[in-house]
Order: sequence, then C-alpha cells, then structure tokens
Amino acid sequence: MNNTIQTTSSSAVNSVGRLFNELPLSPGLRATLQQLEYLTMTPIQAVSLPITLAGHDLIAQAKTGSGKTAAYALALLTRLNPRCFAVQAMVLCPTRELADQVTQELRRLARSVDNIKILTLCGGSTMRPQMASLEHGAHIVVGTPGRIMDHLARGSLDLVQLNTLVLDEADRMLDMGFYDDMAFVVKRCPPKRQTLLFSATYPAGIAGLARQFLRNPQEVKLLEQH
Ligand code: ADP
Ligand code: MG
Repeated sequence: MNNTIQTTSSSAVNSVGRLFNELPLSPGLRATLQQLEYLTMTPIQAVSLPITLAGHDLIAQAKTGSGKTAAYALALLTRLNPRCFAVQAMVLCPTRELADQVTQELRRLARSVDNIKILTLCGGSTMRPQMASLEHGAHIVVGTPGRIMDHLARGSLDLVQLNTLVLDEADRMLDMGFYDDMAFVVKRCPPKRQTLLFSATYPAGIAGLARQFLRNPQEVKLLEQH
C-alpha cells in the first residue's frame, strides 16, 4: 500500500517516516511522545501538523485509524495556557464513543501539562453533573453537537476564551443530521479562532460546511493507492 499526499498547493510532500523531533513542540510534549513510543509521524500527522501548529485553518481527509487526533491535539495543546482556567479548545464528535476515544487520546498526549482539565459532554448523560463540572472550569471540552448546543443555550458553557475548534469526523456529523446544531455552536465561537475539520470522506456537504465555518483553509488529502 502506498500513500499519496495531495495539498491545495499540489506540492509534493514527503510524509513517510518523518520524526516528531522536527516539529516546534515543547519539551513536555516531546517527552510524552517518547513515552508513548510515538516516534515517527503518521502520514496525515506529517502533512497536517506544520499547518495546524502554524495556526492555519485546515481541512484534512484521511481514513479512520490514521492518527488524526494527534494531528490536531498537538496543535491545541501547544497553544493551551494551563494557568487560564477557561475553555480554550473544543472538539465536536458525532458519537459518545468517539468523544470518549478523543478524550482518552487527549489525556494521554496532555499528561505533561499539570492540572489540565478535559471534559466530555455528550447526550445520554444527565445535564446536572456536567453543569457542575463546567462550573469548576475546564481547559478543553469534547462533545457531541446537540449536548454542546444545550449547554450553550443554558449558559453553562462559556466559549469567550476559545482559540481552537475541531470538527472531528465531520462527514459523520453531517450524515447524522447535526448540521443545524453545528451551525448553532460555531456561531457562538469567537470569530478569531483556528478551525480544523477532519473527515474520512469528502462529500459536497463538507465543502459547504468548510466554506461557512473555516477561513482560508489549507487542504490535505491522504489518498490510498492499493
Ligand atoms: P483516527 O482519528 O484517524 O481514526 P486516532 O487518532 O484515533 O486515529 O489514532 C489511531 C491509533 O493510532 C491510536 O491508538 C493512537 O494512539 C495511535 N497513534 C496515533 N499516532 C501515532 C504515532 N505517530 N505513532 C504511533 N501510534 C500512533
Ligand atoms: Mg478520530
């Protein structure tokens, strides 16, 4: 199997076997990656991380299991100020299972950041404990669009300090009918932010979503050739 990277600039990107060492990461994040035995970047990480770390908006298309979480997590963790006890990054996911997986991976990657609080906010759990947790504060929230929308409508979630918004598995969120909920949530995010859209496929709806919610996004696609 051979992987090909396409970018909007159509520059040839050699993404195979690149080391995390070449990225401008903090000593803490570097040490964590070593502990986790993440030595080489996956192709989607190699092509996305220079873009996400530079603060650009991004549309990234790659199949499940290709390491998309770290492709955005390392950028948002690099920017995160742990002394500012406010939500600085938010990840929207289509299902509770995916939100739990993302939270788990974020916690693994964030283990060098003292006292970091990452909250998962999904439907199917009662609101009250989530509201109590939010009152105590969080740096990052991960959740499904409907539940995040509920918290915004009730005023229990404040996004004033948000600097990174991630739409993870955006194609599935569209398939599941979350367009209106996503639009509600995005409208309540500060306009000055980085928005990152990850998707396994690239149907027409995703292009529309990107036009509305992203600003001058760079695009990367990982195409597989068998
Ligand atoms: P995706 O979101 O594309 O489906 P994930 O971010 O969930 O993929 O990553 C899939 C698996 O690969 C996870 O178990 C993760 O811990 C692991 N992984 C991610 N990046 C690396 C890497 N650079 N080296 C080794 N393992 C990695
Ligand atoms: Mg994923």
